[in-house]
Amino acid sequence: MSILENFALVQSQIISACARVHRNPADVTLVAVSKQHPVSDILAVYEVGHRHFGENRLEEMREKMPSLTDKPIHWHMIGHIQSRKARDIPAYFQTVHSVDSLHLAQKLDNATQKAEKPYLEVLLQINISGEESKSGLSGVNWAQNADTRAILWDEIRQIIALPHLRVRGLMTMAFIADNPEDTRPVFISLRNLRDALMNDLGVDLPHLSMGMTDDFMVAIEEGATIIRVGRAIFGG
Ligand SMILES: *Cc1c(COP(=O)(O)O)cnc(C)c1O
Repeated sequence: MSILENFALVQSQIISACARVHRNPADVTLVAVSKQHPVSDILAVYEVGHRHFGENRLEEMREKMPSLTDKPIHWHMIGHIQSRKARDIPAYFQTVHSVDSLHLAQKLDNATQKAEKPYLEVLLQINISGEESKSGLSGVNWAQNADTRAILWDEIRQIIALPHLRVRGLMTMAFIADNPEDTRPVFISLRNLRDALMNDLGVDLPHLSMGMTDDFMVAIEEGATIIRVGRAIFGG
């Protein structure tokens, strides 16, 4: 199948998943994850009207950007950011999904001020599944473990207070599963965490960035407002 056929299929799957739980497809933003794919692939999807794209490495973004500067694309940074590279992030990305430490948040806050931007939109990456390979603020068993909650709440309070970041929600990656159904508890846990934080901290956290090629339909059923899909669109 071609990229545009893939793209159309993903869009129809979003509509079906929304229909199953009576959600409006307009409330789900599809981020087309173009990492490791050429600018020509991005342009193919751009030409049919798509505007949200995701990359996970600053170096790759730097290489692609010169061919795309005139395009009004909303760029999403979805990969881990080394703090020494935080400085250049605001120049390239409108939303950062991968804020995984207070230290990085402080660096990004500084960088946004230096870039003379009013604010940078960010999501807080939460490690729900506990896999060591995954970055994120630790949210393993947050509902059961008061110590985990205390640490997490404290970090998030400090991040929210940073003047140049606008914290808009949470992001997570589920584990790799043979059956996408198995990932459902991860998405439910992230949604419940978001609800608890909104209640306790009095902040608005409208976004849940969750769901990738293998599990985005389950994530939508559990409330994802942003899904990050690479392989199902671009192949590979
Ligand atoms: C690569 C990547 C995706 C997209 O994954 P696919 O399985 O290709 O859909 C989503 N989120 C993050 C953080 C990624 O690194």
